[in-house]
Amino acid sequence: METTQTMTEPTEVPVVLAIAGHDPSGGAGIHADIEAIVSQGVHPATAITALTVQDTVDVQRFVPTEPKLLIEQALIVLRDMPVGAIKIGMLGTVELVEAVATILSRYPDIPVVLDPVLVAGGGGSLAENAVAAAIVEHLFPRATIVTPNSHEARVLAPDAADLQERGTVLASLGSEYVLVKGGDEPGDKVENWLFGVEPPRRFVYERLSGAYHGSGCTLSSAIAGLIAQGSEPVNAVHEGLEYTHQTLMHAAAIGRGQLIPHRLFWADDENGTDMSDEPPGSSRVH
Ligand code: PLP
Repeated sequence: METTQTMTEPTEVPVVLAIAGHDPSGGAGIHADIEAIVSQGVHPATAITALTVQDTVDVQRFVPTEPKLLIEQALIVLRDMPVGAIKIGMLGTVELVEAVATILSRYPDIPVVLDPVLVAGGGGSLAENAVAAAIVEHLFPRATIVTPNSHEARVLAPDAADLQERGTVLASLGSEYVLVKGGDEPGDKVENWLFGVEPPRRFVYERLSGAYHGSGCTLSSAIAGLIAQGSEPVNAVHEGLEYTHQTLMHAAAIGRGQLIPHRLFWADDENGTDMSDEPPGSSRVH
């Protein structure tokens, strides 16, 4: 018997493709990406790079996806939907870095937000040793913005003397912008520095008391969601940081370890809205 397939006209809903790992605790990785992208009023499509075994305390191990399978996941989405930005998170192996470079080479015009994930918040490794160099070689030249935390920035630019030099070095490796996040540094203020603008721009926040699981994923995905809607990268960084700070202020101790950012805080009744209200990104006011 013949089957009929219904083809519908694509709509104008903006789409982010998140290429990232699965964290079963739901704090980081692809869960975080989906929630942060939805919060910008954008549709999240996903391609999974790895399954991790971890909780809110730390990572035990990860199993990378077969590179060919990752390429297939990404390309089937890219051929089907008008992807407005690609967010890249945990890659884990050099082969997966190369697989992502292959995917990006087919779509040279889509903006890319690259979160160079190397370790989890608990200190467990999320990448084999050669991954940092492979990310610099294969993915920096294709990135609109790279969002290392201060530890990742040190690994990616090991010879730089201080944060300013590190940011300048990283911004010379091919991406348009580099946002070095200061959440892991000491001090009662969190300083995030954006390089690729002259002079480098500082975004300062009061330090919150908790340790968080998935804050970097949240930020990079929010930035990708905003860019997919047409925001300029510098505005997207500012709005993405504001959104992420809110998710941390509403974070919850759901597991025994780090707090999980509440990325859907805007949907809570206590915040004056309910699930029928529009997410913050759709009104574009943070
Ligand atoms: N991606 C995955 C799959 C992870 O498991 C983690 C941390 O555990 C991260 C990314 C990075 O998390 P964060 O946003 O806390 O830097």
